[in-house]
Amino acid sequence: MTNSLSENIKNVIEFLSIEGVTGYEKNIALSVKDKLIKYGIPEDYIFFDEANKKIPLFTETGNLIVKLPGTKPGKRKLFSTHLDTVSLCKGAEPIINNGKIIAKNDTALGADNRGGVSCLVNLLKFLFQNNVEYTPLTCLFTVREESGLWGARNVDKKDLGSPEIGFNTDGSSPYEIITSAVGAERWSVEIIGKGSHAGVAPNKGISSSIVASIALSKTYEDGWFGLVEKNGLKGTSNIGYYGDQDGNCAGSSTNQVTDYVKINGESRSMDQDFISEITNQYEKNFIAASEMVKNSKNEKAQIKFKKSLDYFPFKLDDNLEVIKIAKESANKIGINSKTVAVNGGLDANWLIRNGIPTITFGNGHYNPHSLDEYLDIKEYEDSCELAISIATQ
Ligand SMILES: [Zn+2]
Repeated sequence: MTNSLSENIKNVIEFLSIEGVTGYEKNIALSVKDKLIKYGIPEDYIFFDEANKKIPLFTETGNLIVKLPGTKPGKRKLFSTHLDTVSLCKGAEPIINNGKIIAKNDTALGADNRGGVSCLVNLLKFLFQNNVEYTPLTCLFTVREESGLWGARNVDKKDLGSPEIGFNTDGSSPYEIITSAVGAERWSVEIIGKGSHAGVAPNKGISSSIVASIALSKTYEDGWFGLVEKNGLKGTSNIGYYGDQDGNCAGSSTNQVTDYVKINGESRSMDQDFISEITNQYEKNFIAASEMVKNSKNEKAQIKFKKSLDYFPFKLDDNLEVIKIAKESANKIGINSKTVAVNGGLDANWLIRNGIPTITFGNGHYNPHSLDEYLDIKEYEDSCELAISIATQ
């Protein structure tokens, strides 16, 4: 690293070096807070909410919120980004390489979403150190985005000062404005069969593995696995985990009929009803398969199927003010941005559900959640300029 690096790039490198995997955001949140105080933002504008007390998983801290009164009257704008990274980023050491920031060793980088964190810190610094006009503004740094959008899901709109429009930064290109995203549901099934000696009394057992296999092959055959297209509707589904209760393989030895299998999966679509329809197919097929696999006493496996909503889909109307502001602000700095749809969940899914129309723009991070992750420095800097342009619009 050389002294010629801008303070903004030094900051992003600093934030990338601070570990803060999902649920463990305290250190990164405190270093953001320290940095903001150093830049002259009054300490009483900065606080933590109590979202972590509402999240059903251990979470070190609440969302970090910075609420500025603005220098001119007008609608309050929200800027948001997430503090956490995926666990593959543990121990990441950022280095600069050819216009990019990459991880030095075998870890992901965590530019998803420290690029966004740094982008908003840079925005706040700019607003405080320059004599510019801007309407009331809130910055929200969420926790536990990667493990289910929990921070955004549990934030209280009042804590944000009831902003009327939102700008979330996450994802790759700062030249694209995300205006629609799929919704998703997670599900799990437990198949409780019956163990028996596979050589001596196989007929007394009920194989959970066989029940699972029949159900999944039926799901696959009928086109409900992977990319799902039915009656003009589109969605996706996946099996992400197939094993026992504790993260081990299903079954224990070849001479025993498998008495237990647990499978976790998910369904996604732009259409909320279609998400449920996909999940329901899996449930139906597990139940039907359990009817087919019976032991000599005519007993069958017990199916315990659970589903939970991850996030709702959204599609913002093209005429919304938030999209116009984003596009005009981009134009002003020479970016001709286009609107796009994505197949993943964003904090925006919950912010919109919470009544804040929110677009999302990228901050230059690519190949997130992988060892090939990198931050494109030029694109990152453009995202910083875009944030400033929106805030001062
Ligand atoms: Zn992200």
